[in-house]
Amino acid sequence: MASINSVTRQIAALEISSKPNTTGTTRTNGHQKKSSQEVNKIKLLNKLAAPNPFIPAHSKSSSSVMTTKQQSRPPSPTKPQPKAKPVQPAQPTERTIDIGKYDGGFENDERMRGVVSSEAARELALDSSTSGSNPTREWSLCDFDIGRPLGKGKFGRVYMVRTKEEPHFILALKCLYKKEISDSRCEKQVRREIEIQKNLRHPNVLRMYGYFHDEQRVFLMLEFAGMGEIYKQLCKHGRFSDRRSSRYIDQMSDALLYLHSKHVIHRDIKPENLLLGLNGELKIADFGWSVHAPSNRRRTVCGTLDYLPPEMVRERPHDASVDLWALGILTYEFLVGNPPFEDLRGVAATQDKIKAGRYSFPSHVSAEARDLIFKLLQQDPEKRLPLPEVRKHPWLVKWRQRSEGSGAGNAS
Ligand code: AMP
Repeated sequence: MASINSVTRQIAALEISSKPNTTGTTRTNGHQKKSSQEVNKIKLLNKLAAPNPFIPAHSKSSSSVMTTKQQSRPPSPTKPQPKAKPVQPAQPTERTIDIGKYDGGFENDERMRGVVSSEAARELALDSSTSGSNPTREWSLCDFDIGRPLGKGKFGRVYMVRTKEEPHFILALKCLYKKEISDSRCEKQVRREIEIQKNLRHPNVLRMYGYFHDEQRVFLMLEFAGMGEIYKQLCKHGRFSDRRSSRYIDQMSDALLYLHSKHVIHRDIKPENLLLGLNGELKIADFGWSVHAPSNRRRTVCGTLDYLPPEMVRERPHDASVDLWALGILTYEFLVGNPPFEDLRGVAATQDKIKAGRYSFPSHVSAEARDLIFKLLQQDPEKRLPLPEVRKHPWLVKWRQRSEGSGAGNAS
């Protein structure tokens, strides 16, 4: 069995159809120069780890009457397929990808299980095959081979999985225990997270392909972020170079532009909520605090202390510009290794610094990076640099051009 790295290399070597990608996810971000081989790799990864295998029942031909169960499965290989498969027959199949060894975590988590109240059960009866706007096919745990654990979150575990049926898509399957959600009274937050994330389509926003539930658990089918957490990388390296930081901030600002255009405010941007795709591209992964905010200003204090903007510290209304403040903090943290207002004396000291806007730069931070951070960390939300201006900022433009010039792509 091949490792993920070797599979990534194999994938890079594959030739695949040049059919246009219907997901539209080959769009590039500034710093990434796409060689044709890279584009091919991304197309195949999109096919393997992303695409649209989850055809909504209503998109099937009305002339063929199907039972629910038939609708919930892809057509049999012997039947004519509506669309040709883009991968050519001689290619290695996705079965060669080693998804690792399942550690029996779901079974070991018995103690986290339990019966929830009928109201919580109703709230958490989440199933994308019956979701109103954009239903998927019907899914259940037996549709997947379960592989290695990818991590543990607040409400459960995340596993690398592969769909049993061809073409064996690779996904991350996140399991949330209903009892844990209900004990933390987070039913609404989880519902909101799912409702927001399932409708988002951007190369730097982690895709959610579907979700289903059983009596005690909710399962989220997520895009597999093969290179793991940015936070781990930051801990490992201490801080990132200008090149690497600017690439992430460029991708982040593009993703935020997209989210804000959909009236989604993230509200909890920080390295812990960012993952890396197989090509090292940034993926915003956690929408637990995000909201749909059509126009009104909101009061809920949320997010993580070091990333809280002054208006939230003061418990004043806030709007999408909280994400601009957080982008400034993130830029600083990438370049320096810790957030600008961090104060180990405690919460009150950090809050005081945020309200006073008191921070300083170590000497290695360039004048251009300082300028961007300064323009984002404005006390007055209306004075924060708007995202289209962020994307044109000289620090990002300079590194984008250098990366394009050297073809460095995602190298650090
Ligand atoms: P979470 O419950 O979202 O905090 O996830 C727990 C951990 O699982 C994260 O910190 C990641 O290390 C890992 N993880 C979550 N989602 C994914 C994913 N889509 N791809 C790869 N790893 C993931």
